[in-house]
Amino acid sequence: MNIGVLALQGDVREHLSALAECDALARPVRRPEELDAVDALVIPGGESTTMSNLAITFGLLEPIRKRIAGGMPVYGSCAGMIMLATTVLDGRPDQESFAGIDMTVRRNAFGRQVDSFEADVAIDDIPGDDFHAVFIRAPWVEEVGAEVSVLGHVTSGPAAGRIVAVRQGNLLATAFHPELTGDLRVHRYFVEIVRQSSAR
Ligand code: GLN
Repeated sequence: MNIGVLALQGDVREHLSALAECDALARPVRRPEELDAVDALVIPGGESTTMSNLAITFGLLEPIRKRIAGGMPVYGSCAGMIMLATTVLDGRPDQESFAGIDMTVRRNAFGRQVDSFEADVAIDDIPGDDFHAVFIRAPWVEEVGAEVSVLGHVTSGPAAGRIVAVRQGNLLATAFHPELTGDLRVHRYFVEIVRQSSAR
């Protein structure tokens, strides 16, 4: 079981080490051949407009869309969540996504002035305390289709109630960055999705 981390831009290294700590074989993916060699993909946080440009330049846009349509498990954090959305609000007009999760996300939704903030997030399916979540110019989810499970929302503060974690089949997305806080529960949850999908 090999998990790739899309390594065009963003916090690739943090995801690679979080996956390694979960005992998953993780490697960077920059080229279509590298995508062919993995069973699952993590799309890191970063800047979705840049990631979109680079995905086109590196010939990865269509191949990743195809793998998603074929059932490949994918986890996206923050910019990665935007890259997994079917509809992006406040995006750049030419911005592309891999789509996959039937949802509308708003970029930089928590306020353009506020670069980052922290809040508690409860996630269904992941037992234990609320996540202490770090949001960095993060999106939130404004609408989901019938196939999408809402897994998590902000529990307190000005953004309370906002949807920040979703799952559709093998696709998982969070608006926050568990790879930056050392809380491995989201990565473990994803590795379990990959295991179950490989076993099938
Ligand atoms: N605002 C960024 C974007 O639109 C996402 C920020 C992040 O990934 N931390 O892609």
